Amino acid sequence: MIHHPIIKVALPVPLPRLFDYLQAEDGSLTPVGSRVLVPFGRRKLVGVVIGHAAESALPPEKLHRIVRPLDESEPLLDPQLLKLLQWCWKYYKAAPGEVVLSALPPLLRNAQGALPLPPVQYRLTAAGKQRLGQPAGRAKTQFAMLEAMADGPKAADILSSIGTQWRKTLSRLVEEGWVGEETVKPAGLVVTPGPPLTPEQQKSVDHISHDLKHFHCHLLDGITGSGKTEVYMNLIEKVLSAGRQTLVLVPEIGLTPQLLRRFRQRLGLEPAVIHSSLSQGKRLAAWAEARAGRAALVVGTRSALFTPLPRPGLIILDEEHDSSFKQQDGFRYSARDVAVKRAADLKIPVVLGSATPSLESLSNAALGKYAWHRLRERANRASLPHWRVLDLCQQKTHQGLSAPALDAIAETLERQEQVMVFLNRRGYAPVLMCHQCGWHGSCDRCDANLTWHRSAGRLCCHHCGSQRKAPNLCPDCRADALMGAGEGTQQLEESLEQRFPGVPVLRFDRDRTSRKGVMDRQLDEVMKGEPCVLVGTQMLAKGHHFPKVTLVVIVNVDQAMYSADYRALERMGQMLQQVAGRAGRMEKAGTVILQTLHPEHPALELLLTQGYEAYANWLLEERRLAGLPPAGYQALLRAEAHERSQVEQFLGEALKIFPPGEAKAHGPIPAIMERLGGRSRMYLMLLSPGRASLHRQIDQWQLLLPDLPSARKTRWALDIDPQEL
Ligand code: ADP
Ligand code: ZN
Ligand code: ZN
Repeated sequence: MIHHPIIKVALPVPLPRLFDYLQAEDGSLTPVGSRVLVPFGRRKLVGVVIGHAAESALPPEKLHRIVRPLDESEPLLDPQLLKLLQWCWKYYKAAPGEVVLSALPPLLRNAQGALPLPPVQYRLTAAGKQRLGQPAGRAKTQFAMLEAMADGPKAADILSSIGTQWRKTLSRLVEEGWVGEETVKPAGLVVTPGPPLTPEQQKSVDHISHDLKHFHCHLLDGITGSGKTEVYMNLIEKVLSAGRQTLVLVPEIGLTPQLLRRFRQRLGLEPAVIHSSLSQGKRLAAWAEARAGRAALVVGTRSALFTPLPRPGLIILDEEHDSSFKQQDGFRYSARDVAVKRAADLKIPVVLGSATPSLESLSNAALGKYAWHRLRERANRASLPHWRVLDLCQQKTHQGLSAPALDAIAETLERQEQVMVFLNRRGYAPVLMCHQCGWHGSCDRCDANLTWHRSAGRLCCHHCGSQRKAPNLCPDCRADALMGAGEGTQQLEESLEQRFPGVPVLRFDRDRTSRKGVMDRQLDEVMKGEPCVLVGTQMLAKGHHFPKVTLVVIVNVDQAMYSADYRALERMGQMLQQVAGRAGRMEKAGTVILQTLHPEHPALELLLTQGYEAYANWLLEERRLAGLPPAGYQALLRAEAHERSQVEQFLGEALKIFPPGEAKAHGPIPAIMERLGGRSRMYLMLLSPGRASLHRQIDQWQLLLPDLPSARKTRWALDIDPQEL
């Protein structure tokens, strides 16, 4: 027997280590993967046991005893998942507790939370059937409840509509022996066959499903409408019928009711859905169903990646290029990269799907690390859209739209078809400006203009969220000369309504669709197929099928061409391609009008004439020349503080002690938006031709950073494989 075994616990604090505790008073050792409640300073925290040890570096009198274990039965997290989380905190240089706790549903992060029991249902016993054969007598409610179960077992929430005292009634029926309680068996797979696959789809399905017992990463590079989702469903069907589970990850705005409906219709079962806007109870229930192996199909956003799966068979990541797969604060991980790692650990295939794959994935495919599946035909024979580039230098615009664009909109509506106008800027106007003295509304806390939301009468900062009332007169010169400059979605909506009276204009942006039910109502209206104009942001670009949309107008994308972020052009190309993919998805060919001040931009021309792959290759070559990812490996040391000088001082000191080697540190460099929420933000950029050297040098460096004299005056963090500058 080991005396005083030590329990090593991950706690939700931003410190890069585990904490030692003594086992509980009764001497039982809490198993690895279980939660414990422990004293931490004056607080009590929920942590997860990561390991046991015979001794601690702390002297025995400094060690505290855990308050109590929190998981009665078996550990919440299995060894394989713990191993993945451990890899994550090492690779991302993150605090173990932040990593491990983020893998738990929020309700399990506090001491009151517990795994829910599996759902139960109630079934008539033989005696109950007999009772049903007799007259109801005075026990009317009891009888009604028995009748409700006559055609099969029912869950409690269905029975709850019977009488106000339904619980009492129900337990009475159980006591009488008329009704039995049983665990609900999850619905089995009932496949409704889909359309026959196209040769391209068939080839991908055959290749990927040929070997489902080993790890391999597949890039499903298929243009919009090429039937990627159909490929996923065929693969899922194979994996589920082999008795294994599938995890599907989608971007935040890709988890649409339409997608879930397609899964339900094809597979006949209810996917367990995990994302942050669900109620915490529902999220926990879905997680528990997956963990118990009862949910065969798990669909979720980024954080669902860490859902426990006792019978894993396949991981699919849809729209793999989407930036919402990267977490931008706290535990800064890439769900795409960790998904590939998880699949490798589990020895199962992983499919990364996109119409516009990231340069990282394209480069891995070109190097032969990923199997590359190209789908270049539209599955339902819809034709690809024509591009029309309108040079804005030659045109006057009316609230952002040029005359040819307005004409095209009018013609499309006359043909009884639908139009989508795309602008990546919500609000009424990006800035409220004084035409007398040039004053304009800017945020006090960020390097940003305040966006004018005219209907609400407010100026809002889209970066830090601060707001104020919009002035009526210029705050500087008191002139009555305030006007909006530039366009936002609200203004476009208004001017289109004036221009095309009687035609519904439906706005899709965060301001509008955050109200409950609005999104569904507007989608229903579009689906009716009557002529209408959809106005919206990026939100419109993803996941939806609008069969009647035959014209897409892209108001402006020029910002990306001057951006200091080397990923801006990659994102612009992806966005253009995705938006264009919304046009003409059915029998009608579509047109995409792109308004720009730079029709001659070489990358743009390549994209429009030769397509995304050629465009991406051009960008890849540029990255190679600059040694930027994916041709090199990158990390940032980010720092922020109220005073710019403190940030500069810390990063300056950090730069001096960066260990020598292949990886080089550059900076300090101001973040693209240097002031945000009243804080000054800068970074050091670490670049290396090799991944191993970069990590080795950072690991050494990380130990030294907390001891720098200025380290306490700034908030700092490492960002490995960053996505934003
Ligand atoms: P993606 O996910 O690549 O955008 P989808 O899987 O959503 O493509 O398919 C686009 C449309 O084509 C859908 O309406 C789908 O039902 C249809 N489709 C997909 N595969 C086929 C096929 N093999 N035959 C006929 N229609 C198909
Ligand atoms: Zn003024
Ligand atoms: Zn701000």
